[in-house]
Amino acid sequence: MNTTEHIEADYVIVGAGATGMAFADELLTCSDATMAIVDRRHAPGGHWNDAYPFVRLHGPSQHYGVNSRPLGAGGIEAQGLNRGLPERASAAAVRDHFDQVLRERLLPSGRVRYLPMHDWRPDPSEPMQGAAISRVGGRRLSLRARRRIVDATRADTQLPGTHAPPFHVAQSARWVTPGELTTLREPASGYTVVGAGKTAMDTVLWLLEQGVASEAIRWVRPREAWLLNRADLQPRWESFPRALAAQVLQIEAAAEATSVDQLFLVLEAGGLMMRIDRQVQPTMFRCALVSEHELHELRRIRQVIRAGHVRALEPERVVLDRGVLPLPAGHLVVHCAANGIPARPPEPAFQGPRLVLHFVRRCAPSFSAALLARLEAAPLEDEHRNAMSHPVPAPEVPADWLRMQLQEAGNERGWRELPDLAAWLGSARLAGFSTLMARAARERTPEIDTLLSRMRQALEPGLVNMARMLKVGAEEESRRAARTAAPIVEAA
Ligand SMILES: Cc1cc2nc3c(=O)[nH]c(=O)nc-3n(C[C@H](O)[C@H](O)[C@H](O)COP(=O)(O)OP(=O)(O)OC[C@H]3O[C@@H](n4cnc5c(N)ncnc54)[C@H](O)[C@@H]3O)c2cc1C
Repeated sequence: MNTTEHIEADYVIVGAGATGMAFADELLTCSDATMAIVDRRHAPGGHWNDAYPFVRLHGPSQHYGVNSRPLGAGGIEAQGLNRGLPERASAAAVRDHFDQVLRERLLPSGRVRYLPMHDWRPDPSEPMQGAAISRVGGRRLSLRARRRIVDATRADTQLPGTHAPPFHVAQSARWVTPGELTTLREPASGYTVVGAGKTAMDTVLWLLEQGVASEAIRWVRPREAWLLNRADLQPRWESFPRALAAQVLQIEAAAEATSVDQLFLVLEAGGLMMRIDRQVQPTMFRCALVSEHELHELRRIRQVIRAGHVRALEPERVVLDRGVLPLPAGHLVVHCAANGIPARPPEPAFQGPRLVLHFVRRCAPSFSAALLARLEAAPLEDEHRNAMSHPVPAPEVPADWLRMQLQEAGNERGWRELPDLAAWLGSARLAGFSTLMARAARERTPEIDTLLSRMRQALEPGLVNMARMLKVGAEEESRRAARTAAPIVEAA
C-alpha cells in the first residue's frame, strides 16, 4: 500500500519521547494550536519503550513526565536502596504516564493527531513540510506545519538494547544486554559489566540484589564519574532547607574554587558530589544521581578493571586499550557501553520554521520542553526567545557542570523578566526547585532567609569565577584525556 494523504497542523512534532510529549502537553494548555506528532516507535515515551526492565528514573518522579498531571503518587520510598527519598518511576510507569496523557488528554482534545510507527522524512526544499512513512503498512502521509516543525529527536538516546557494543565482538563471544539478563535460565559463573555510566551502575545493583556475590562481578570502568547525591535534589518542601543549602554550597564553593577539580573535591566534602572510588579523580560527569545506599553497594565491587576502553570481545578474553582480561568458563559479559545521550553541537531553539527541543535547564528534559512551549506561545520575537533559551549541554566531563550553570543562570534571568513566565515557574509541577523558591518567598523562616541571603551574596562571584575556571579547566581536561590512566591488570 502506498497512498498519500495530506495533513496540515500548526505544529508537526517529530518525536513522542519525554520532550515531544511534554511540549505537546504544555502547548495544549497555553495555546489553541493543533499538532501532529510523528514517531517511529509504536507508543509514546521514546527510549523508555526499549528500556531494560529493572531501570527506573534516576531522579524523582516529580521532575519528569508532562506538566499537566503527576507521575506517580508523590510518595517517599520506604524500602530498598532509595529508602527515605521521593519515589522514582519504573520504565513501565513512565510508559503508562505517557500513554494516559495521549489517550486521556491529547487525543480527546481533538487538536492532536498521533502517527506512531511512522518515519519522518523532511522535505529538503520546503522547510515546513515533510512526509511520514508507515514502517508497517507503507502508507505515506504528506505533512505541512503552519507554524513550525518541532524537532523532539535531539537527544538521540542510545541504549544497550538498541545500540550494539562500540567495540568488535567475535561471533562466538558470550555477551548480553542488561535487559537480556532478566531472561537468563541459569546463572553464569560470573559477570563482567562493561561501562562506567548509569546503566552499568543499575546493572551492578540489580545483580547484587539478585544475590550474585560481589566477588563474582567484575566491572570494566574506563573512567570514573562524579555522581550527584539524590538526597540533595528532593523537590519537597520538607527537604527544601537541605536542597537550598546544597545550592548555596555549590555557588559559594564556585566563588572560592581555584580549579574545576578542586571545586568538585569541595562539593564532595559537602556531600553533594560523590564518587564510587575515592582514590580515583573522576574525568566524567553525566548528571547521574545515586543514593548513599546505592553508593555503598556499588563500592562492594572490588574487581574494577581500569585499562581503558574495550577494543574487542573474544570468546575467552576481553581486549582493552591497555591489557587483556581473560574470561573464565561460563562467564558472561554485560554490554552497558551505549552512549546514553550523545553530545551534539549546540544550536538555537527557535529557528524560523524549526523549533529544536534542547535543554534550557540542567539535566531537565521535561521541564525544558514545557518551558519552550510556554515561550513558543508567548507573543515574542525569536531573537528574544533564543536569548532566554540558550542550550544547556548534556554533560560529559566535570567542566560541563560549570557550563550548564552559566547557561542556565542566563536563561533564568530572562524568564524572571516575563511576568507570566515567572508566575508559571512559581507553580508548574515540572519547575521543581523554582516552585519551592516561590513558596519560600511566601513562607519565610530564619533558616531559609539566611540561606537565601548567602546565595544572593555568592551568586555573582560564583558565576564570574566559574567562567574563569572554565578556560583553565578545559585546558586541564584535554591534557588529562591525553594522559594514560592507571596501569592494570591481567585479571584472574
Ligand atoms: C536509562 C535512562 C534514565 C533516565 N532517567 C532520567 C531521569 O530520571 N530524569 C530525567 O530528567 N532524565 C532522565 N533521563 C534522560 C531523559 O530520559 C532523556 O533525556 C529524555 O527522556 C529524552 O527524551 P527525548 O524525547 O528527548 O528523546 P527520546 O526518548 O530518544 O525520544 C525521541 C523519539 O523520537 C523518535 N524519532 C527520532 N527520529 C525520528 C524520525 N526520523 N522519525 C520518527 N520518529 C523519530 C524516536 O523514535 C523516539 O521515540 C534518563 C535517560 C536514560 C537513558
